Amino acid sequence: MSFASLGLSAPILEAVAKQGYKTPSPIQAQAIPAILEGKDVMAAAQTGTGKTAGFTLPLLEKLSGGQSARSHHIRALILTPTRELAAQVGDNVAKYSKNLPINSAVVFGGVKANPQINRLRQGADVLVATPGRLMDLHSQNAVKFRDVEILVLDEADRMLDMGFIRDIRKILALLPKQRQNLLFSATFSDDIRALAKGLVNNPVEIDVNPRNQAAPTVKQWICPVDQKKKANLLTKLLNERSWKQVLVFTKTKHGANRLATHLESRGISSAAIHGNKSQGARTKALANFKSGEVRVLVATDIAARGLDIEQLPQVVNFELPHVAEDYVHRIGRTGRAGCVGEAISLVCADEFGDLIAIERLTKQILDREIIEGFEPSINLPVSRLDTRPLSKPKTAKKPNANGEKRTFSNSKPSARRKATPRSDDAPRSEGAKPARKPRPATDAKPARRTPQRNRKPAATTAN
Ligand code: AMP
Repeated sequence: MSFASLGLSAPILEAVAKQGYKTPSPIQAQAIPAILEGKDVMAAAQTGTGKTAGFTLPLLEKLSGGQSARSHHIRALILTPTRELAAQVGDNVAKYSKNLPINSAVVFGGVKANPQINRLRQGADVLVATPGRLMDLHSQNAVKFRDVEILVLDEADRMLDMGFIRDIRKILALLPKQRQNLLFSATFSDDIRALAKGLVNNPVEIDVNPRNQAAPTVKQWICPVDQKKKANLLTKLLNERSWKQVLVFTKTKHGANRLATHLESRGISSAAIHGNKSQGARTKALANFKSGEVRVLVATDIAARGLDIEQLPQVVNFELPHVAEDYVHRIGRTGRAGCVGEAISLVCADEFGDLIAIERLTKQILDREIIEGFEPSINLPVSRLDTRPLSKPKTAKKPNANGEKRTFSNSKPSARRKATPRSDDAPRSEGAKPARKPRPATDAKPARRTPQRNRKPAATTAN
């Protein structure tokens, strides 16, 4: 199948060819014809599937036939949860519309509103926006919605997670009733379906997500280690292995800052990216990481969501996520488009419950390697994919290992752990209200967690 066969015109095909895309990805093959036909679409697709071009190309095709936007008006609105994703989608729109008489703009919080207000005076055929800033601009009459023909909700599940539902509903109420709606989400949860009910009409449903699986080209393994030794272990791994560009996930913003500072102090160029950083700092950190100036980018889940970094070779989970699905999202940042990648998780005994949840979800036991000098003082129990009760972690009589690689193919039982809601990385300036109560901080003072059946979820920080 070719892009031409999907019904796209020459200027768009030229822009696509310029990007080096030869064949449409599955989401593109399914979404582009449906959108061109004017249908509403509900698509389950994650970052990395080519979803942005999947909705942008047909959207541009449709807009290119009409009149340019009037002053302050917009014709297509793309809502995204994070500033980074808004900037990234905005870049894509600009690239794909290069040969078309279409202008686009991007607005998000954390930066001055005035330049955005000035830009919107001209009107924009396509506006990419985060919900909070869009509402602010609308309340100042900087943007008018009367001409909106197409609405895209990108990463709708994350928008709900980040507490944007009220802003989204307000925006929906302000849009013209007659319009085309495109809803993209990593998953179709009940909440997403409830949102979709009042949004999409008789939609074409598309699902291209592999079910909770990482790309087969990603080598996954874990390193059992005590929590307090993780920073030094990561430093050792970075020094000894030729990892050039590493995305590291921490559970909390403080943890991200602390780790980036630790690595810097050991001569490893690092930057942290999370919701407490100014937009300027976030943009700079990402640009420096992409260019190779910064070797390690330490990120929280939500800040990293939607980041598209070509051929990222290495992902490190400094802490496992509380929600097993986030593990799949995290390691999905590597091994894209058939490239080889590696995902390493530093796991302490307290994280055993999280590990089991991940292994169950991904239906695999992760290989283990204990690094010499970093043998855990409390053994990480071996895991297995059945449902027998958990064994208690035992204190090691002797430090485990002589530094040689130890791979456990199988193990002890597991427990069903109730997922603790993820915390909110939503920038405050965007007026987001957390959908769920953020948990109190652990990264300042880790809660003691014993991996055992039915234990209560540990407290953590609002991220
Ligand atoms: P997305 O899922 O939209 O974030 O896209 C992920 C990456 O895939 C981006 O770097 C795109 O430039 C790239 N991409 C999108 N469509 C194609 C395609 N048809 N062929 C090759 N790469 C693509």
